[in-house]
Amino acid sequence: MEQTLSIIKPDAVKKNVIGKIIDRFESAGLRIVAIKKIHLSECEAKAFYNVHKDRPFFNDLVKFMVSGSVVAMVLEGENAVMKNRDLMGATNPKEAKPGTIRADFAESIDANAVHGSDSLENAKIEIEFFFSKREIC
Ligand code: ADP
Ligand code: MG
Repeated sequence: MEQTLSIIKPDAVKKNVIGKIIDRFESAGLRIVAIKKIHLSECEAKAFYNVHKDRPFFNDLVKFMVSGSVVAMVLEGENAVMKNRDLMGATNPKEAKPGTIRADFAESIDANAVHGSDSLENAKIEIEFFFSKREIC
């Protein structure tokens, strides 16, 4: 059993497809063991994406992530980290396989509908960023 962090980004929240995206996770056998809708501050978004701080797209990414509310979730299941990444599709929706979340709900590489932890190690760090122990059940 693994846990991973998923975020439904502001573009998908604005499109009103939270339920449709959650259905992808549940239909694939992942369980939502924690969930919250929040509007990140600039400081929080910068801290969350700190690994990308030297990339040319960092400022735009932070601006986008604070442009509206997001839904953060802990997904639990067998092989949850990779399963979530497969369900998400490639970072650039134009390269994402048909039937993936990004192919179906995202417009561009900047506004690409979802975030998912890329390793078990980062999943732990990202889950702790959003949730306290008592919020996960
Ligand atoms: P992923 O979200 O697939 O793990 P990365 O961790 O590489 O992708 O990048 C984090 C986020 O930064 C992406 O989801 C995307 O929103 C944004 N991003 C990545 N690469 C670019 C790029 N070349 N131009 C604009 N935004 C980008
Ligand atoms: Mg990433």
